[in-house]
Amino acid sequence: MNQSIHPKSEVFSESIPRRLVVLGATGSIGQSTADVILNAPGRFVVEAVAGGRDAAALARQAIALGARFAAIADPAAYQDLKQALSGAGIEVAAGPDAVIEAAVRPSDLVVAAIVGTAGVNPTYAAIKAGRTVALANKECLVCAGAPFMQAARESQAVLLPMDSEHNAIFQALGGRAGNSVARMTLTASGGPFRLWSAEAIAKATPAQALNHPNWSMGPKVTVDSASLMNKGLELIEAHHLFDIPADRLDVLVHPQSIVHGLISFEDGAVIAGLAAPDMRVPIAHCLAFPERVATRARTLDLVEIGSLTFERPDFGRFPALQVAMDALAAGGSLPTVLNAANEIAVERFLAGKLGFHQIAELVRNLCDAALKSGEGHAPATVADALAVDHITRERARTHLA
Ligand code: NDP
Ligand code: MG
Repeated sequence: MNQSIHPKSEVFSESIPRRLVVLGATGSIGQSTADVILNAPGRFVVEAVAGGRDAAALARQAIALGARFAAIADPAAYQDLKQALSGAGIEVAAGPDAVIEAAVRPSDLVVAAIVGTAGVNPTYAAIKAGRTVALANKECLVCAGAPFMQAARESQAVLLPMDSEHNAIFQALGGRAGNSVARMTLTASGGPFRLWSAEAIAKATPAQALNHPNWSMGPKVTVDSASLMNKGLELIEAHHLFDIPADRLDVLVHPQSIVHGLISFEDGAVIAGLAAPDMRVPIAHCLAFPERVATRARTLDLVEIGSLTFERPDFGRFPALQVAMDALAAGGSLPTVLNAANEIAVERFLAGKLGFHQIAELVRNLCDAALKSGEGHAPATVADALAVDHITRERARTHLA
């Protein structure tokens, strides 16, 4: 198993309470994280929380969690945050550097739950500082997977997978090496358009894409789930986290979202990770690791669910998954380009400026453009990856102008 994800027991002090930093504290993962923390009095203390621009929500979260420090990325939100926290005894700062400061404050574990490329620098700072990082922000590993894993090896930071599929696989592996398995399978719910025709999917509106059948999540990952791009990003995430080659990774559509990940061994044995579709389950696993902590997630009742079904993904109706798999197979800068292009495409789609079917088209075109311009080589550092990200965004604007 990749050394950096292989948790050495001495890394995990038995100190209770465990000191946490929550990056992206106001988002969907941030709120579920708060729910787990508040349900376990005495187990955790919160050193710092960070958010993007919603000062009122960040102030509420900082107070609820008893944080010592609250950082907001948008400098324009500083006064609002300061005002909302006046008299609360919570230190306040704003700007991207403040978010990085939150990431590297002394802690036992950093929850990396900022959405998108915005999470790259703060999460990287936490890894470089040798923190244990519970990783929800999959875009970090899609944008700059190799430099991230390299930095984790160097600083001996431990990465705990918080994404539900990767968390299930991590638990199913039970400390075995990820690259020792014959096949690693991530499941996908299939999203709201699983049974729709290609014509109907092409015309899907943001409201329809945001209407996920099983999961309640932030808007970007919800649209990614509807296009199945999310599963493509997760294959790339799994490739880096578990050091497993692309040809041993697989996707199954599983509409009930109960089995989150499976590992198949060469002797034919398969171990699956099951849980109700509730992010508090993988979040709690990461926060308490290697212990367990109770959550308010519903107990899984397989009789009530009745049947678990599995289908092959339909690449014709969901081309984004194929585009992502091609980027993973090609390697080099293509996953970085894919990540940036997809982020722009989703933003435009949510703003009503791009059709749903154009998301995969734009991403494919920008991957092709990067190759044609001789920019296909792998970014050696996180800074290189962010430069590729930047060029891709500029190119996307030209394509869309
Ligand atoms: P949300 O959109 O709900 O929340 C995003 C969070 O990031 C908010 O707290 C937001 O703050 C913050 N943020 C945005 N920009 C910045 C910035 N520049 N600096 C600091 N904070 C910033 O997203 P989710 O919680 O759904 O997802 C977070 C990550 O977790 C994503 O990478 C997603 O793919 C992953 N994930 C999510 C799952 C889920 O169930 N939601 C499941 C598995 C993975 P503000 O509110 O102020 O904008
Ligand atoms: Mg997931």
